[in-house]
Amino acid sequence: MIKYDEFGPEKILSVYNPKSGMKGFVVIDNTKLGPGKGGIRMTPDVTEVEVSRLARAMTWKCALADLPFGGAKSGIVANSKELSPEKKEEIVKHFSEALKVVCPELYVAAPDINIAEKEMEWFSKANGNNKSCTGKPASMGGLPHELGSTGFGVFHATKVAAEHAKIELKNASVAIEGFGNVGWFAAKFLSEEGAKLVAVSDSKGVIFNEQGIDFNELDKIKKETGSVVNYKPGEQADNILDVKADILITAAIPDLIKGEDVDKLSFKLIVAGSNIPMTAETEELCHKKGILVVPDFVANAGGVISSYVEYIEGNEKDMFKMVEEKITKNTKQVLEDAKSKDIPPRESAMEIAKERIRGK
Ligand code: NAD
Repeated sequence: MIKYDEFGPEKILSVYNPKSGMKGFVVIDNTKLGPGKGGIRMTPDVTEVEVSRLARAMTWKCALADLPFGGAKSGIVANSKELSPEKKEEIVKHFSEALKVVCPELYVAAPDINIAEKEMEWFSKANGNNKSCTGKPASMGGLPHELGSTGFGVFHATKVAAEHAKIELKNASVAIEGFGNVGWFAAKFLSEEGAKLVAVSDSKGVIFNEQGIDFNELDKIKKETGSVVNYKPGEQADNILDVKADILITAAIPDLIKGEDVDKLSFKLIVAGSNIPMTAETEELCHKKGILVVPDFVANAGGVISSYVEYIEGNEKDMFKMVEEKITKNTKQVLEDAKSKDIPPRESAMEIAKERIRGK
């Protein structure tokens, strides 16, 4: 069931086109700060309830990032793998045309599962307004994912949090879970800053070297062999959570850290680059144990900040500048507020996001 409260959802629009069979919906959760921002998810079993939860997560993320965007999300019910490119294009175009009543004034779309650059190009053209979505190809003013905005933001969140926790980032030992878009860029910027990568994982396993892993060599090995585990010298570890390091960056799967894991963790700081690497309850256990956790929607907002820069037609340089400024400022505010109240940073972050919306 969809939950309604003082924040929303403000509008739920169901759309259908009998010609193409396009069936979808958009949930506009809250537009106090600006048009609702959120991706389009194309899966055969996407529901309004799922989309409404994701729309709410975007409301908090955009408010905390301090962007003039609200929260929204949309879904198209279709099996992307079974669609020919022509059929997919027709469906996306019909979806975009049906959303003209809300888009871009109340909803600005973006990619999500099974929706990428090409689909955003179709969406934008069918809508007739370049501001109707972000995630467009570079030829249309898009700022590609490959620039690494999220990993760059995770790096800055780590920099602020390390200083806050009195960890000297230069020479601090760092473990990174995941070596995809987020983990790769976080690893690159952290090692350039002088931090020591002691463990990195991917879907094949964990590579560990107490003396430090060379980022460029690791990148080469990953490209040549398909996995970080083939890096030498190093040993394979069973679980990244068993690694001894000052800092853990999560950048892969949800629910990585369970409540029962907290006791054994050696990290002083965990920066959540991935979404939901642990529950709020587990974050609270970390707080009680003295592990500082920078929550996901604080640390990984670089992507949505980059979307905003695309929306206002900025370039790559503007994007890196805004990601650094906003992530630095917001992370500082959250950590200082949490410290002064002795509460987990997530609680502070939620309060700050709510105050920004209520204050409008
Ligand atoms: P990606 O697909 O580029 O990379 C994922 C990485 O995780 C790969 O290296 C893969 O090998 C690794 N992986 C998969 N299973 C693993 C496992 N069990 N243990 C360790 N590593 C494993 O994905 P991404 O874009 O880097 O996203 C990573 C996380 O960050 C996701 O939770 C995503 O939702 C979140 N996130 C991404 C962005 C973004 O802009 N890319 C923004 C916000 C949040």
